[in-house]
Parts: sequence; C-alpha cells; structure tokens
Amino acid sequence: MKKPVEILHVLHHDSCSSALDYAALMELLQRNFFQTDPEHIRFSILFIEFYGFNQFYGYNENLLERDQLLISKIGKKLSSALTENDMLVRVGDYQYIVVQADIPERVSSELARQIMHLFSEPCMINGDMFYIYTSIGISFYPDEGTDLYALIKVAENKMKKVQKNGKNLISTVQDSSILLTERQMELKQALPAAIENGEIYFLYQAQYSQVHQRFTGAEMLARWKHPAYGEISPEIFIPLAEQNGMIASLSIKTLVAASKAFIVLDHAHIDDFSLSVNISPVFLLTAHFYKTLQFLLQEYELNERNLHFEITEEMLLEHTDYLLDILHKIKNLGICIEVDDFGTGYTSIRQLADLPIDILKIDKSFIQGIDTDKKKHDLLKAIVSMAEALNMKVIAEGIEKQEEATVLQQFAPLTIQGYLYAKPVQLEALVEKIQKLSAGNGNTL
Ligand code: C2E
Ligand code: CA
Ligand code: CA
Repeated sequence: MKKPVEILHVLHHDSCSSALDYAALMELLQRNFFQTDPEHIRFSILFIEFYGFNQFYGYNENLLERDQLLISKIGKKLSSALTENDMLVRVGDYQYIVVQADIPERVSSELARQIMHLFSEPCMINGDMFYIYTSIGISFYPDEGTDLYALIKVAENKMKKVQKNGKNLISTVQDSSILLTERQMELKQALPAAIENGEIYFLYQAQYSQVHQRFTGAEMLARWKHPAYGEISPEIFIPLAEQNGMIASLSIKTLVAASKAFIVLDHAHIDDFSLSVNISPVFLLTAHFYKTLQFLLQEYELNERNLHFEITEEMLLEHTDYLLDILHKIKNLGICIEVDDFGTGYTSIRQLADLPIDILKIDKSFIQGIDTDKKKHDLLKAIVSMAEALNMKVIAEGIEKQEEATVLQQFAPLTIQGYLYAKPVQLEALVEKIQKLSAGNGNTL
C-alpha cells in the first residue's frame, strides 16, 4: 500500500475543485482494499474536517497564500499521525478521509483522538497563530455497510453531527460521543457510583500573588481514584460526566467540598484566601443551574466566602445573550469570575469588556517557554496592559521553570500558579505549606 502522503498528493492533483471526487476515491479504495479476499476485509473510514482558522494575532493579508500554507501544514501534520498502512485522501479544501485496514474499532478511535490532540495546539504560519478545530466521524466496514459510497456518507454525517454538537458542548475540539473506547464506556457507567462512593476527591493547587507576596488562593482540581485503574485524569472523566448527565452531581460535590475546605482554612487561620472551582459549561447551561447554585450557596454558607468560578474562554464565544445573563447573576451572588485557558480561544476585547469578568487566567501554552520566546513575552505584556485597562486581574498558569518565573517577576500585578510554586496537593498538605511559609517568612517563597 502507498504511503499516506503520496496518496494525498495524487488526489489533490486529480480533483482541482473542492468537490469530492468519488470516482477517484473509489478506485483508490478498490485498488488498496479489495485486491484480496473481499469477504474477510475489515476497515474503518475516518472523515475529518478542519475548520475555524481564527487568527489570534498578526494579520496576513494574502489569504490565498495563507490557505495554501495551511493546507500544506495540515497535510504534513496529519500524515505524521499515520502509518504507511493507512490511506490518506484529501477530498475537499479542508476535508480528508483516512482509511485504516484490519484494525479493531478502538484503534480508529484512538487515531482520531491522536489527530485531535495534534491539532489542539495553535499552528504558526508566517508569524501568525491559527486555531484549528477538528471534527471526525468514523464508519466501519462491513459492520455499517458494504457499499463504499454509503460508508463514506455515514462517516461524513457522523462528522457533521459531532461538529454541530461540539459547538454546544464543552469542547468543539475534542468532544465526541462516537469516539468512546471500550474503557471509556466502562468508566462512564461506573461514574455515578464513583461520585456516590467518594471515589472522586479534590486536590488544591496554591496560587502565589506577586503583589501580596503570599499564597492568596488555590484552584480545586478533581481526581478519580478508581479501584481497578488507579488515578484517572479529570480530562478523561469530566467529558464523560458531561455526556451522561452526571456533571451536575459532580459540580454539587465540588461546591460542597469547597465549603468544607473553607472551614478547614478558617480553623487554620488562613484568611483572605480564595478557592477557584472549574465550572463545566454543560452544568452552567442547564436550566436548573442558577436555582441549584442559589440553594447550595445558602445551604453550605458559601455566600460569604471568597469563591471563584473558572469558566473556559471557549465557553464565552457561545450562547452570548444567555451566558451574559447567567454570568451577571453569578457575579451578583458575590462570586468572582475567572476566564480559564485565556488565549486559547479568540475573544475580542469588545466581548471581554462587555462580560462581568474579574480575572483572566492565561493558558500555560503562553507561559511555558516565555523565557526564550519573545513573542510570548510581548503577548503577555499586551494581555497584562489590556487587563489593566479593563480593570481585570491576571493569573499566569503552568510555570515549571525558574527562568519562566524570573521573566514573570517583571509583570508585578501577576498572580502565579504552577508546579514550580506549588503542585496540586491534598487540603492538609496545602494548609501545612501555607502555615510553614507564614511561620518562616510571612508566607513568601
Ligand atoms: P485546567 O483548569 O486548565 O487546570 C490546570 C491543569 O494544569 C491541571 O491539570 C493542573 O494540575 C495542571 N498544571 C498546574 N500547574 C502546572 C504546571 O506547572 N505544568 C503543567 N504541565 N501542568 C500544570 P489537571 O488537574 O489534570 O486538570 C486538567 C483539566 O481538567 C483542568 O484544566 C480542567 O479543565 C479539568 N478539571 C479539573 N478539575 C475539574 C473540576 O472539578 N470540574 C471541571 N468541570 N473540570 C475540572
Ligand atoms: Ca482551571
Ligand atoms: Ca487552565
């Protein structure tokens, strides 16, 4: 079988239009997959579409050149995820088909996830940064049909469905119910009981304020201690909770845990300390969100607390009217609103100014390597001065190296969160760390 890149090249030249050249595609498939015993062939078709291409900074005037460079970059990146047994065909401007032969379903799901991961990082072209969204639908031969044309349509329709759903869910990039592996299905089923049995718990990652020269808050990060699989990352189980409706119970658990943590902090005489909770957009957008929140704040006496909600920047781009209303309501309850992963979306200054936001939390991709990357440095400078103009605070996250911390010291108003300063730890360890520091030298590092 030919290498993916070669086939990509062939079809690209065969079909000059963006329309899918089925005849050429069929011929390729027939040639590659039906040479031997068609009865025993198994393969899957991944229908992939890239979209978005929103620039974060810089203006490249030449759109044609931009498109050509993007297409070439996408092709190269995509090929890098494939083996020479996979077939890659470009079927539209930003649409591709990958055919994987003789593999179990989960392998294709894994490849799809890998591709999404590859494209989750911004792409640099001529100094401009682009965000590319990826949607993938998969169909399986012969389980979902033996007619090639129909199978491609099945994959394409699945892709379109994901794209539509993705916009309303947490992640347009990675969320897809059709991409669940067997393990994930199992975890999804086990999650309700896990929430009930206390297998989900929280770690606390302290945040250091350069202004106050002390730890002024912590982010709560969920963990699942699974009896068989050990520790499971929130990046795996939060999307599952969002899909099976468990996210509300999980969010309630988080707020109850926050209320208990505030009491522990009180007893340890740790005052003026905030707790930041990650709020899933799926929970935020449920009809009962506000009533549930009001109830919880009263029931667990969180009203008087220094509670922060982290809402991802991606979320701000959707549901604008409804979201604006709900954000104002949250703020009126005395909760501080943080924009998480700031910089990974592309909120305009206008949008930011219109929203009741208190804190911008800059994504770690902008912080890591800031000591060697001048562009990141300039970007941070711009964000800090923009935040100042909008009367917002800024948190930088993901600081792992002393060199990065040294650069960040130039930005006095910043609050800092990262492994270098404090790793996510159990509440007792957080209390101990803060007490030790304040006993020693006034809680400074
Ligand atoms: P996030 O909100 O962006 O959280 C920051 C993540 O970066 C955390 O990963 C944290 O452990 C990690 N991190 C902190 N400092 C550093 C550093 O210096 N270097 C590096 N490489 N990483 C650092 P974690 O705990 O695995 O959480 C991953 C994501 O899962 C979170 O990303 C958040 O989106 C989600 N998540 C975690 N807990 C919850 C929760 O209770 N509810 C919801 N809805 N989502 C949660
Ligand atoms: Ca967060
Ligand atoms: Ca973040």
